[in-house]
Amino acid sequence: MNPWIGNIIFSIGAIASVVIRIPHDKISQKTRISENRRGALEIVLMALIGLGMFLLPILGFTPILEFANYPSSAAAVVAGTLMLIASLWLFFKSHADLGKNWSMTLQIREEHALVSNGVYKSIRHPMYTSIFLLSFAQLLLLSNWISAPALLIAFSILFAIRLRTEEQMMLDKFGAQYESYRQKTKRIIPGVW
Ligand code: SAH
Repeated sequence: MNPWIGNIIFSIGAIASVVIRIPHDKISQKTRISENRRGALEIVLMALIGLGMFLLPILGFTPILEFANYPSSAAAVVAGTLMLIASLWLFFKSHADLGKNWSMTLQIREEHALVSNGVYKSIRHPMYTSIFLLSFAQLLLLSNWISAPALLIAFSILFAIRLRTEEQMMLDKFGAQYESYRQKTKRIIPGVW
């Protein structure tokens, strides 16, 4: 199958995820921060995501990474497209449900409220679930040994490092309220983990 079909579908998805975030970036710039836990490590992790989601896929479209190309399969492109659609929906909905409480990194806003409704009802990190879905969509849609798994590797590292720090920050801010929310929910897969 022509690899450009997967490449183009992935590119549309990556652009859509940036567009979904634009209004939330604007709101977050206007919402005051009361606590910032963005350390140097967070900045490195964000750069890693940029590399995995944008830079390596773009290089994968050029002769630079041509040596790592493999044949594209129709089944992988169909599965990847379905995963991409699910990812974008959950990415959109989790931003909408978090509203003014959203931050690109680890921050508590003034008047921060604990969100436990919408897609936050059964899992605590639906936005991270959506990024894992996007990572698998990228793995299936791109047909290059370097760019296809790049976001899955980058995001797995960010997730492994950030999860505990983020939950500790929420516990410090919301105490028993977060603990009880934690008891009732899973991390990223409803009913499982
Ligand atoms: N981990 C969440 C949110 C990612 S955005 C998810 O995957 O859906 C990161 C910011 O969201 C954190 O800095 C924190 O301030 C905020 N946050 C995380 N969970 C929250 C919740 N349940 N209610 C309100 N804010 C939350």
